[in-house]
Amino acid sequence: MQKEQLKTMKITHLAVCVALIATSQLHAGASVADSSKNKPSTPDEAFAYLKAGNERFASGVGIRRDLLAEARETSGGQKPFAAIVSCLDSRTSSELIFDQGLGDVFNARLAGNVVDDDVLGSLEFATKAAGAKLIAVVGHSSCGAVIGAIDDVKLGHLTGLLERIKPAVESASTKNKESCTSKNPEFVSEVVERNVKLQMKQLTEKSPILRELAANGSIKIVGGVHDLATGKVRFLADGN
Ligand SMILES: [Zn+2]
Repeated sequence: MQKEQLKTMKITHLAVCVALIATSQLHAGASVADSSKNKPSTPDEAFAYLKAGNERFASGVGIRRDLLAEARETSGGQKPFAAIVSCLDSRTSSELIFDQGLGDVFNARLAGNVVDDDVLGSLEFATKAAGAKLIAVVGHSSCGAVIGAIDDVKLGHLTGLLERIKPAVESASTKNKESCTSKNPEFVSEVVERNVKLQMKQLTEKSPILRELAANGSIKIVGGVHDLATGKVRFLADGN
């Protein structure tokens, strides 16, 4: 065998070994849920961790979890790293779209990801009492509650809930009233985004506890919009 051939074979063998090791590590990482010791401990880490989870979900490589084992492990207590305010919508489960397990995130879910006094109380518990480092307000594409607010739907207790979204509808309405309808997807998207910002604003305006935690850097507040079709969450640039 030529010396050059031998060298090529050695390099090829080495490349295959490296690839195999890398693949086995990737599979190990993809198949086993992170242990609690890997949980983020700062607001910035928590935000990065949440974003990474959504990237896994949107690219179809979510962590394979033993939920029953997670249930046992977390039965004695919880230390979620984030609290997520999202919509009631059946397609927007936070654990799924952010690829998290049991005990990882708090959820506050009302139609239209609205923030009322009870949600504020829940978030005060989640952060001040239970130590979550991040609050994410996450709206979603084609939100039925937002569309209902645009259409001024009246239905029992839903009427009052939709009132909480109305300021976002009003602020998005332009002089061209014909385009400001629920039939216009761009207008709906605009209201969805404005509603996320509106609900984020409630957190620090109405809760002195959350305001203080955000001001002293104990928590980070971010906003995003979840695309139902792609699974991706686009975080808003000024969402903190
Ligand atoms: Zn919705």
